[in-house]
Amino acid sequence: MTEIDDDARARHRSKMARRKAVQDAEVAEKTIEKGLLIVNTGPGKGKTTAAFGLALRMLGHGRRVGVVQFIKGAWHTGEKEAFAVFGDRVAWHTMGEGFTWETQDLERDRAAAARAWDRAQALMADPRIALVVLDELNIALRYGYLDLDAVVAALVARRPGLHVVVTGRNAKPALVEAADLVSEIGAAKHHFAAGVKAQQGIEF
Ligand code: ATP
Ligand code: MG
Repeated sequence: MTEIDDDARARHRSKMARRKAVQDAEVAEKTIEKGLLIVNTGPGKGKTTAAFGLALRMLGHGRRVGVVQFIKGAWHTGEKEAFAVFGDRVAWHTMGEGFTWETQDLERDRAAAARAWDRAQALMADPRIALVVLDELNIALRYGYLDLDAVVAALVARRPGLHVVVTGRNAKPALVEAADLVSEIGAAKHHFAAGVKAQQGIEF
């Protein structure tokens, strides 16, 4: 490492001052406050866990959150146990019957998705709730278990100030179009490909 002389220090200071001015001007331009429609999609890992990260962040501000899991069945997950610590500040509904290839029953999958969507709408209407996570709703839409137009219309018509996060691969273009924030998570590398099985605390 080279020594930092007075010249280098002064150059750094003026560069950072210029950067701060640009940054401050950019921040000052952004004045809109609104509840966001957020979509976490793509083939990589991290869609659901990122949504739960936002739930945790909201809870940290003393607010309430709702979670509906559209596909996952009743198996034990670390996140469900962890969020239970927050008591009635988290409304958690695991509504799925498991993966579609496990149930192998279209009527049952459709009925489960419809029940989950009813629950989701009830949470979205609850004025105490600041953020609703609709986990794997994209999967229910992809398989046509729910009416896409009706779901998108209800999400767009959510009450002002409510944040909604939708997760799952293959987000429908109509939902992407309607969303404020869409994160497409890529699968640069996944340990499943190397034969590593689902790990406690990482996958469940
Ligand atoms: P997480 O719940 O860990 O945030 P996710 O919501 O992004 O993952 P899903 O599409 O819901 O991922 O898939 C659920 C499971 O599949 C996760 O346990 C995850 O590790 C695994 N998975 C995710 N991406 C891949 C991939 N590209 N290849 C293999 N398995 C994957
Ligand atoms: Mg997921």
